[in-house]
Amino acid sequence: MTETAYHTDLSRCVRCGACKTLCPTFLTTLNETMGARGRVTLLGELEGDRLSASKNLAEKIFSCMLCEACRNLCPVGINIPEVVYQGRTRLKDSFTKGVLLRTALKYSAARMDTAFSLLRWVQKAIYKPLFHNALLSGMPEIASEPFKNSFQVYRKKKKASRIAIFAGCSVNYFYPGLGIALSRILLSKGYEVVVFRGELCCGAPLRSAGLVDEAVTLAQKNIEHFSKVRAEAIISMCPTCTMVIRDQYPQLAGGTITNLMDIHQFLLTHNIVSGLEINPSVMTYHDPCHLNYGMNIQNEPRQILKGIKGVEFTEMKHAHECCGFAGLFSMHFRSISRDIGKKKIENILDTNADTVVTSCPGCVMQLENLKKTSKAQVNVRHIIEVIDEAMNPAVK
Ligand code: SF4
Ligand code: SF4
Repeated sequence: MTETAYHTDLSRCVRCGACKTLCPTFLTTLNETMGARGRVTLLGELEGDRLSASKNLAEKIFSCMLCEACRNLCPVGINIPEVVYQGRTRLKDSFTKGVLLRTALKYSAARMDTAFSLLRWVQKAIYKPLFHNALLSGMPEIASEPFKNSFQVYRKKKKASRIAIFAGCSVNYFYPGLGIALSRILLSKGYEVVVFRGELCCGAPLRSAGLVDEAVTLAQKNIEHFSKVRAEAIISMCPTCTMVIRDQYPQLAGGTITNLMDIHQFLLTHNIVSGLEINPSVMTYHDPCHLNYGMNIQNEPRQILKGIKGVEFTEMKHAHECCGFAGLFSMHFRSISRDIGKKKIENILDTNADTVVTSCPGCVMQLENLKKTSKAQVNVRHIIEVIDEAMNPAVK
């Protein structure tokens, strides 16, 4: 978004309030300044010099979950998440709560392997309170080896075609098993699988921390690296990576990774998920915000689950509502994150499903934590794990 577009958008707001109808931070706190309309108004006041940058103002802008629920609600067409991103670049130095993580991200995002192996050492060896009681509580065990470093190219003699995986940081460093499961699915259907060691963070955490220049650098490098990968499609198990690369790279970096596809659409159009069967299970589905609001994909994951023999599908109330994760938000605004998550776990348990399925590793992390704190008896699974189990039961 250009400076001019930012100023124009801020001046166009007619204060109708349509944007706050789905805003999770507003609906949870019932505080106008913690909602979509409030944030647009505050940023307008900042630009008009009627407010000055302050810690309090910065907290309102950084408490946005960037969930995209408000993106298409504004009758005058203001793209509120984009306005918030712009506001964050201006206010980042006033967001004192975020200094530690912002500094860590700034210096580690281009060297995630080193940063995570150091963090793993800290996690294992010396500072358990950091992970159990403080800023990083809820972080799962960091993998000994990132997924992207352990696999490279799986060749098939007679290949259907070649598919590349954009793993994303959560799969690389927390859930490498998901990457292995996706590779197994593709290989069992005859695809050659490429896992690209040169993959970098998609840039979403940097952008959300107000570090736009650093996010642009990563976007440019990812575009350059992936343009060298010959593949029919590039797919990711993380909807945030997919959405950021597809929708935000063009304006950030002037291009994108062109053959990136949503994973559900890929699996359905390539007929990979038909004729599957699993042990009987009652499943419900939680919509990740960036898949639902960001990419308008709701039917495909449900179609996949309902098509698996043995799955009894039950819809939860408000399946589209956020689980409260939102990356850095859940670290900086823990009590709001927990309150949003509490409603989600209640809605899951009301279904009596034995398993809640979702399509985002970040949501898996949050749902696992909610399950632990509420002692809920429900399995949490990424949709790729369900498909892998149905397709390759011998490995379970
Ligand atoms: S992106 Fe989500 S949290 Fe942020 S203002 Fe919009 S609806 Fe609210
Ligand atoms: S929906 Fe648009 S015009 Fe209405 S309050 Fe929100 S930003 Fe302003």
